[in-house]
Amino acid sequence: MKTFPDLRLRRLRKSPELRKLLEETSIDRNKLVMPMFVDENLKRQEEISTMRGIFRFHEDGIVEKAKEYEGLGIRSILLFGVPKHKDSTGSGAWEENGIVQRTIKRIKEETKLTVFADLCLCEYTNHGHCGLLRGQTIDNDSTLEIYGKIARTYARAGVDGVAPSGMMDGQVSRIRKDLDLDGFADTLIMAYSAKFSSSMYAPFREAVFSTPSFGDRRTYQMPFTNTREAMREIEEDIEEGADIIMVKPALFYLDVIKAARQRFDHPLAAYSVSAEYSLIKNAADSGIVDLKATVEESTTAIFRAGADIVISYFTEQIFKDGL
Ligand SMILES: [Zn+2]
Repeated sequence: MKTFPDLRLRRLRKSPELRKLLEETSIDRNKLVMPMFVDENLKRQEEISTMRGIFRFHEDGIVEKAKEYEGLGIRSILLFGVPKHKDSTGSGAWEENGIVQRTIKRIKEETKLTVFADLCLCEYTNHGHCGLLRGQTIDNDSTLEIYGKIARTYARAGVDGVAPSGMMDGQVSRIRKDLDLDGFADTLIMAYSAKFSSSMYAPFREAVFSTPSFGDRRTYQMPFTNTREAMREIEEDIEEGADIIMVKPALFYLDVIKAARQRFDHPLAAYSVSAEYSLIKNAADSGIVDLKATVEESTTAIFRAGADIVISYFTEQIFKDGL
């Protein structure tokens, strides 16, 4: 009869120093991307009411904030724009001197940050959908032409990477072709490859006023029930020329991130979305959980699942807390 355990894993946990030495995963701050919102309608920054601590900035404000981020050590941002005018085709999205294009240009001139820009129509259309409408349906193929136009204006402004998020079929190949034809072979494409139709986007829609005026996005975003279909989406984007693939949201989709990691060698980004931020932030503000500990645990989980890059609204917090 055995009296003592053979295995004493507790030896590995004796001190904080030893635990640190034996960590299998840690938050790599070089691989965090901070999302940022620029709003053409604003004169001063405005807190997003459903995302406490996250702001929409006016043009000068976002440039200043980007410089502050650079000073903190943040290396990469992902830009979203809110235009003054919305119309049925989202024409504000491909204005040569539109709000996002101007912001890209200024941030690239004034900082060394890597700038990705979200590429979609939902912030720019008066119906809030990610593509052009034909009747009540979102027309895939005519939307591709518009996505190509937007990509070219972002590239001319100096963006490092465009991030198409509309989930139209063929969007990556169309954008790649248009960028290459215009001489922007070096502009990256970070594709929102497996973007699930999720309840976790609600605060974001409030942030950029992009709630669809009718219907929902289930005809183009992925059903949250399907992992194999997500692998097909990712495979398709890789074949079309995506440089970086993405799974979005992150925390409810760690298994999808892991499956993508095991199957593909492309750099893999995971986007921890607005409600993932707000659930944690609100729970912490109410005293239910400790913010720093929860941010550390949840962000580590996304890296542990296999993400190379984590897009997180907690990026600023992580740098400030020295996590
Ligand atoms: Zn969209």
